[in-house]
Amino acid sequence: MENIKGSCLCGKNHVMIKRYGNFVYSCHCDMCRKMTAGPVMAVDPEKSDNVELQLDAELVTYYQSSPDVERAFCATCGTYLFWHHLVRDHYCFNAELFPEIIADAQFGLQVFYDRKPNYYDFANETKKFDSHWQEVE
Ligand SMILES: [Zn+2]
Ligand SMILES: [Zn+2]
Repeated sequence: MENIKGSCLCGKNHVMIKRYGNFVYSCHCDMCRKMTAGPVMAVDPEKSDNVELQLDAELVTYYQSSPDVERAFCATCGTYLFWHHLVRDHYCFNAELFPEIIADAQFGLQVFYDRKPNYYDFANETKKFDSHWQEVE
């Protein structure tokens, strides 16, 4: 797919991924779960040259969750927008911003699987990696 449009719940902030397939992964880390009340479902367009941020600077809140990483949120509706590694210039977006992607998504990977609490489990067949990037099972 090309020029895939995404937006937050209130529709004030827009993002676009220039080229992407349908790969979705989940992150079970403590920060993602606290931020969203569950695992984050994410897409990984990687570099900034593959994304176009159409954000209203006054309507976006950034939170630096670790020294090299910022997370962006819509300041109006609270929607989690993206994770951005500032040094690697690597973006991962909230998959749920993009109706076209999730309509035919391939859920293929779970990360920080060792941080997943016991009260939920996905039934999907996926690869799983722990917080040290070692494959589990
Ligand atoms: Zn919003
Ligand atoms: Zn995470």
